[in-house]
Amino acid sequence: MIYLDNAATTKPCAECIRAVNETMENTFGNASSLHKLGTSSIMLISRARTAVLRGMSLGKNQLEGNVLFTSGATESNNTALLGINLRNGKIVTTSMEHPSQAKVINKLEERGHEVIRLSPKDHDDFEKAIADAVDEKTALVSCMAVNNETGFCVDVKRLYNAVKAKNPKTLVHIDAVQGFLKIPLDGDLISVSGHKVHATKGIGALYIKKGVTLSPLLLGGGQQNDLRSGTEPVELIAGFEAAINAYEYKRELFEILKAQLLERLSAVQDVKINSNEKCLPNIVNFSVRGVRSEIMLHSLEEADICVSSGSACSKGKTSGVLKAFGVSDKDADCAVRVSMCADNTEEEIELLCDKIAQTVKNIRR
Ligand code: PMP
Repeated sequence: MIYLDNAATTKPCAECIRAVNETMENTFGNASSLHKLGTSSIMLISRARTAVLRGMSLGKNQLEGNVLFTSGATESNNTALLGINLRNGKIVTTSMEHPSQAKVINKLEERGHEVIRLSPKDHDDFEKAIADAVDEKTALVSCMAVNNETGFCVDVKRLYNAVKAKNPKTLVHIDAVQGFLKIPLDGDLISVSGHKVHATKGIGALYIKKGVTLSPLLLGGGQQNDLRSGTEPVELIAGFEAAINAYEYKRELFEILKAQLLERLSAVQDVKINSNEKCLPNIVNFSVRGVRSEIMLHSLEEADICVSSGSACSKGKTSGVLKAFGVSDKDADCAVRVSMCADNTEEEIELLCDKIAQTVKNIRR
């Protein structure tokens, strides 16, 4: 099988699988228990927190913040956005966000918050445009680090500094699911997910900068300093830590594979590339005009090749997010997303391109 859907999820790495198994065998204690198995779990969790913090490449004072382990980035986003005290403040966000952020912002808008949404297509300097929209009434800026459909990449450090220069009281939340371990991050609240970096599903984290206060989403036994009740899933946390430690972002390899893919696609008539030079090279989105995404996906599946239309979360529905990048509805209907990981090879891209060319030939005949 040729797996090119790594923005949807990644295969758990050997290190992760080993750590999960070992933890289930040996470190299965409840972190709240007072005996030694409980203590081992506490130590494991604390070590994993440090791995998450280091993985964020936050720069100076990076180890000072708190890390909550969650069930994934959907929970991290909900915890961050519903947990902060927004008073009556305004929210600045973007039109390219994942539903786990966008739907929460919609809810906050219904509750009376003024929301400003900016699209990358309207601004050459997106970070500056976001900071320019911040004023003395802005309580929150929430923006993703890397878009899951196109790979569009925000300079998060620059964004953070620019927002704080405009209003130091504005909180900055970053959905860093597709940027974690790939680019340096910053923020007052940062959401990440394990299953996008070769750990398991069901584990994620929320970074909380020192001094930022949050009301918990989940109430109960008071675990994780009362910020996220529920027995900590030590085995998943151990797997997450192992995956982080083993992760290597092979940017040069992705650049080679992306160049190869673009070169081959340029020989296919009527292909529009939806990922531009501001996108990370591991995600390439393109529209093969006249061949609907669904048809292309099924045709590739016949050759045992897994890619996605837009995002896997939208289950084949036309992606509204692509509009934020200036892609027409018609082109969004034909969008294909190829998302790579370090295991992908030139041979695989070659086979993908052969099959795309063949599909186009059959359909446009
Ligand atoms: N944000 C982004 C940018 C994502 O790509 C995803 C996963 N598709 C999520 C949030 C949700 O993450 P999870 O599956 O861990 O809930």
